[in-house]
Amino acid sequence: MVTIEEALRIIADQKINLKSETKPLEDALGYALANKAVSPFDVPEFDNSAMDGYALCGLYQQYKLVGEVAAGDSEAVLMNDGEAVRIFTGAKVPKNTSAVMMQEKTSVEASTLFLDEMPKAGQNVRKKGGQLTKGQEVFEQGHILNPPSLALMGSLGFEQLEVFLKPQVNIITTGNELVKPGQPKLEGQIYESNSYAIAGALQQFGFKHHQKIQIQDDFEATKAGIKAALESCDVLIISGGISVGDYDFVKQSLEKNGVKELFYKVFQKPGKPLYFGRKDNKFVFALPGNPASSLTCFYVYVLSLLQKLSGYRRAGLPTYQFPIKHGYENRFGRPSFLKAFVSEGNVAVLDGQGSSMIQSMAKGNALAFVDDGEKLNEGDLLTCKLIS
Ligand code: AMP
Ligand code: MG
Repeated sequence: MVTIEEALRIIADQKINLKSETKPLEDALGYALANKAVSPFDVPEFDNSAMDGYALCGLYQQYKLVGEVAAGDSEAVLMNDGEAVRIFTGAKVPKNTSAVMMQEKTSVEASTLFLDEMPKAGQNVRKKGGQLTKGQEVFEQGHILNPPSLALMGSLGFEQLEVFLKPQVNIITTGNELVKPGQPKLEGQIYESNSYAIAGALQQFGFKHHQKIQIQDDFEATKAGIKAALESCDVLIISGGISVGDYDFVKQSLEKNGVKELFYKVFQKPGKPLYFGRKDNKFVFALPGNPASSLTCFYVYVLSLLQKLSGYRRAGLPTYQFPIKHGYENRFGRPSFLKAFVSEGNVAVLDGQGSSMIQSMAKGNALAFVDDGEKLNEGDLLTCKLIS
């Protein structure tokens, strides 16, 4: 048995070889940059107008209007002292521009421009290199590409990016009692649901599963199923069959397949019988079958490994502290990840904390961490991992 910290440390300390590939910009969302990115030119590349209005030469309240520059125009416009040109947002300002006045604060009569107020030097001019200078580091290696990162890389002219590959994932569900939703179900059977949670959580964080395999509680079938699944993935996620029951064959099947245990059992609730192992460059998580345990272990542990294997600089769910709306005491006898709901800057621990109870998790949006025996009063800060 390991502690939560030890389990997370073991995952974080795994030595891995990252591989990269080239992706078109439009497919690169959620990937991590395989190399640091450097700006190939100044951004902006030229002084330009931040407003629709008038570029002014000299600082006065009245000018002679001598022309116009639109965004994208490349012809040089000349202005002399006391002259102004009509200009639009993003357009290159003429060489001797003192300021730009927004059009809402102007009026024009014939070819004379009148300003409602005195302009200030440099006003509404976006300076060359004001955001980035040529050669400046834009992103570190491992930067996770979010939508604004894609915009920035696009604005720097990159049409494809070298990114780290994401791991290939297979999912195995185990249990004689499990029936696929939509199929007839006999007395004593239940519908298989963990694979939907795991596949959904993978998708939520930009991962995909390759295969989803259902295996009966039988040693030979489990052994063969794991062997086949391992061949086509980097990370195998198994649900159920990892406890100590007579029908739990996952652990011995993993051993027989040459998977080395890195930890088994974590001192936590839910999800105590969590298993993590490795065979060469392939990793296996065996998650307890109870639906809330399985998904909690995915969010806390599996996700961290998947992100590490994707070359992310930061791995794991975003974690914040919020004041708790009510008193709470952890009497579970183990450090606990509690189904919780964060709203308006506060957090409430939800009813229905059982390991099999997925409804409270479905209605919540966070996993709140409360240590063994910890007692919180209303307003005390509670550490929450946001799951949606
Ligand atoms: P196990 O870890 O295999 O002992 O399963 C623990 C509990 O989780 C049992 O009540 C199982 O029926 C249930 N369970 C296991 N796998 C699934 C699954 N894929 N979908 C829904 N419930 C499951
Ligand atoms: Mg089972």
